[in-house]
Amino acid sequence: MIPASFDYKRASSVAEALDILKGDGDAKILAGGHSLIPAMKLRLSQPSVLVDIAKIPELNFIRDRGKYFAIGAATTHGAVAAHKSVNAKLWWVANAASMIGDVQVRNAGTIGGAIAHADPASDWPAVLLAANASIKVEGTNGSRVIAAQDFFTGFFMTALEEGEIITEIHIPDPTSSDTPDSWRSTYQKFAQPASRFAIVGCAVNLQLSADGTIEQAYVAFNGVDSKAYRATSVEEALVGRTLSDETAAGACDGATAQAELIMSDHYADEVYREHLAKVICKRAISACMYD
Ligand SMILES: Cc1cc2nc3c(=O)[nH]c(=O)nc-3n(C[C@H](O)[C@H](O)[C@H](O)COP(=O)(O)OP(=O)(O)OC[C@H]3O[C@@H](n4cnc5c(N)ncnc54)[C@H](O)[C@@H]3O)c2cc1C
Repeated sequence: MIPASFDYKRASSVAEALDILKGDGDAKILAGGHSLIPAMKLRLSQPSVLVDIAKIPELNFIRDRGKYFAIGAATTHGAVAAHKSVNAKLWWVANAASMIGDVQVRNAGTIGGAIAHADPASDWPAVLLAANASIKVEGTNGSRVIAAQDFFTGFFMTALEEGEIITEIHIPDPTSSDTPDSWRSTYQKFAQPASRFAIVGCAVNLQLSADGTIEQAYVAFNGVDSKAYRATSVEEALVGRTLSDETAAGACDGATAQAELIMSDHYADEVYREHLAKVICKRAISACMYD
């Protein structure tokens, strides 16, 4: 449980961090350290140098930009959970952040670190997929914005290229639309009781017409497949129907249709996890009737 030796550099700006990363292919970004440090202790990761970005001011912010919230990559889960405007306008996102780990994890772990790590059980990927979020990254050749849908590419894998840093996460704010009250959203998870990591998590974001018909549906899962995914079968089964327990039950039969595989570990085998995906899916859609 002792990491291999490494250097440590604290960057004071994104430009400085990019500069250090550019010169060394084995350098690694350090944010909250809650995933990277354990991996280093197990020698699964042996970086030559850690580039600490946790205190870079331009990565530590939450801004309401009208149509979307911009959250700096080094913002902790706890800061998102406690943010007044996020709670007022995207309460389900704040609520999801408040469910991550324990106080210590939430006070050190960052949104950028969580999505760069892309643990299939991590909560943020499903929330960002259902929220239609996008991710801004910067590299030495400039910046680009990647849709969450294209960001999570596999088991602990993302669309990030070598030397790139996640700088901002953009989450659309439906309350800025012409029909601010038409959206119903939630994130529900069945958590492992010690770590609070999701065994299965489901994020649901629905737009309803005045008569309660579902006009748009975004449903995403974590903890099921080797990466978070949008459950388009569930989404298609919801659109055009009235939001009800019966609608939820019918739609959630397709909860794992888009999963490429169902994970199995000592917490939950494949059969149990597949069943749980349907249960949590129904619970999440039903919760949208009351939220
Ligand atoms: C006991 C425990 C319980 C937990 N429970 C949960 C839970 O319930 N739900 C959940 O979702 N997570 C949980 N986590 C994980 C936690 O949320 C981590 O904080 C998160 O996965 C990683 O964020 P970090 O800031 O600590 O990143 P780090 O560990 O510092 O980095 C993780 C990886 O991301 C890279 N990275 C970091 N920031 C950036 C960036 N801006 N751009 C590019 N690459 C970057 C690093 O190089 C590294 O490869 C738990 C962790 C622990 C230890």
